[in-house]
Amino acid sequence: MRSAPRDHAALHRLPFWRLAALAALAVVLAGCTEPLGPPEVIPPRGRVLILGIDGTAPRLVEEWMAAGYLPNLQSLAERGTSGLIRGDELILSPRIWTSVATGKDPGKHGIEGWVLKDAGENHLFQGSHRKGAALWNILSTAGLEVATVNWLATHPPEKVNGVVISELATPGRSQALMKMGRRFGWEGEEAPAAHALAATWPPEWLARVAGAGESEERLVTIRTPSLKLVQIIREEDELVARVALDVESETKPDLLMVLLQGNDRVSHFYWLGVEPRDAYPEEHGIKERRRIRAGESMLAYYRFTDSVVGLFLDRFGPDDLVLVLSDHGFEPSVGEALPEVTGTHDSDAAIEGVFFARGPGIPAGHIAPGVSVNDVTPTVLAWLGLPVARDMDGSVMGFLKGAPPDTIDSYDSIPIERLDVQTKALDARILERLKALGYVE
Ligand SMILES: [Zn+2]
Repeated sequence: MRSAPRDHAALHRLPFWRLAALAALAVVLAGCTEPLGPPEVIPPRGRVLILGIDGTAPRLVEEWMAAGYLPNLQSLAERGTSGLIRGDELILSPRIWTSVATGKDPGKHGIEGWVLKDAGENHLFQGSHRKGAALWNILSTAGLEVATVNWLATHPPEKVNGVVISELATPGRSQALMKMGRRFGWEGEEAPAAHALAATWPPEWLARVAGAGESEERLVTIRTPSLKLVQIIREEDELVARVALDVESETKPDLLMVLLQGNDRVSHFYWLGVEPRDAYPEEHGIKERRRIRAGESMLAYYRFTDSVVGLFLDRFGPDDLVLVLSDHGFEPSVGEALPEVTGTHDSDAAIEGVFFARGPGIPAGHIAPGVSVNDVTPTVLAWLGLPVARDMDGSVMGFLKGAPPDTIDSYDSIPIERLDVQTKALDARILERLKALGYVE
């Protein structure tokens, strides 16, 4: 794996760039009582990648890494620190990915889950429900360039110093998401190319997303089963990855955050393939052939995701910080859920996800005990030499080498501007459809 060449010249020309960043923060945070203190001279470091692989289960990763099926995750484990990461007791992805992005518990950041019930209507939780600053706001204000692609609860897009491809910008070819888009003001009958949804910042990126969606070329060569559902899920992941790789090569952001949701979606439908036969009640009537095919889909999809992870690893070199993580694991769904749904994440059995970190200051071949999703933002800030806020619930991960970071009270006085988007309530039928497809839980 090689690092893509990057113009670090701007940073080297300005040895005081951190000072400038801190000064900018000081202006914004003028309300804070704590002085920011003299900036230390820290050698410029590289960029940061946070790659989310939603719902990727530790048990399968361990087993399939050992079997050689996941070479890219394996290389991260060998060259960096890995282990389990603890999410939230209420295992809902928007809650947890927002904790990753803020360093705070859902009680503080306000993104409680997928669906917000308000005056008898169902709405999707959106970025505008988030209280306080996210990592992309903090870094933008510090003068760094950021990009987020498909991160949950990033719609409507915030006007960051960089690019936001919100989670509604990549509805792929899914009818269900087209319908959902309509609820968010998208008028067209046709696929996303024609839609007028304000789903990216800057808005021009939307056309690029639509263009990327038209590509018929496979991004990676790993074969996945020809099942329609697996294909839909893969197309969505490929679209997200293709757009994220375009954003990366074009803008070379200091922070890139990308969320791939395929492992989660595939696991909702095919988890039975990685459980023993007796994990499901007999009355479910699960045929052995179905179980075997489901197991093939699971392994193929994990291999596909690993392969996509590799495309991102190729873009980030030894000076950069790479974090790859999942928000939770999986467990069998044995309740009265839809018969197609055989995997879920409801109990403590699924509370832990996987975590990999690589880069300067990260020990190689090390296992990290007890990291939390709340620790990601403080760790990234410390790695970049920026202050950690004392109102964050997480802390800098213990294995990160280097001086303890400066602290400040809070980043929450950073002003956040968003694109103005009118949204409508989700009707019950669409909500059921989204649930059936595993988009919403
Ligand atoms: Zn899920």
